[in-house]
Amino acid sequence: MGKKTRNFILELKNKAFQDKATELKINNKNIDEYEETEFIKRETMCVFKCICGEICNNKSILTIFAKNGSGLLCKKCSKKNSDEKQSNTKKNQTQEQKNKSNQKRIETNKAKYGVSHVSELKEVKQKIKDTNNKLNKEDPDRPNRIIETQKNTIKELNEEDPNRQNGINQTRENTCLEKYGETHATKTKEVKNKIKNTNIKLNSEDTNRQNNIIKQRQETINKLNEENPNRPNEISQTRQKYLSG
Ligand SMILES: [Zn+2]
Repeated sequence: MGKKTRNFILELKNKAFQDKATELKINNKNIDEYEETEFIKRETMCVFKCICGEICNNKSILTIFAKNGSGLLCKKCSKKNSDEKQSNTKKNQTQEQKNKSNQKRIETNKAKYGVSHVSELKEVKQKIKDTNNKLNKEDPDRPNRIIETQKNTIKELNEEDPNRQNGINQTRENTCLEKYGETHATKTKEVKNKIKNTNIKLNSEDTNRQNNIIKQRQETINKLNEENPNRPNEISQTRQKYLSG
């Protein structure tokens, strides 16, 4: 064999120490019972206890030491790790780097699919629509439940962090600014025109549409004001603050 063989026993021992994994076994034998120079195939499966306490038995040596290898961690912990790594990389990026990678992603998508984001693909849109329709048909209460859950989550998050909404608006504005050069997607010419054309089309199909929208809007406002009589004041205060800020 001309190929240089790796000393996996020693490497695994080091990795276990590094990832704080314990009870590492190969072929049902504790790693400490192996000679450090013993040859082990890279396809061999390992069994170990992850730092979180979970027993992991589905990783081969190959997976553990792969280039983007998740090491001696269970599936959950390695996902958590890679998510953290990713978000740290994003956090540490400068605005210029972010713009660059956004641009690159858009260009790649355009070259590959002809759209800047896969969700703009007709097939993908249709698939999402079909899946939603199917699920809603099977469970008619589903849409209400989703809205309710979303509302509750938002409420909880806002209660946890009263400043959250401002942060989100800021992030959203920054993202839009990056992507479209405007603080709000509806401000871009393209989007404005699209909305205008869609409205014209829909209004011509249903002449009562405009009235119905106004009626519905007023009904929603009435309902919200009924639920929270202080709402009009709050809105006008927010608006005031926004205008003076
Ligand atoms: Zn774990």
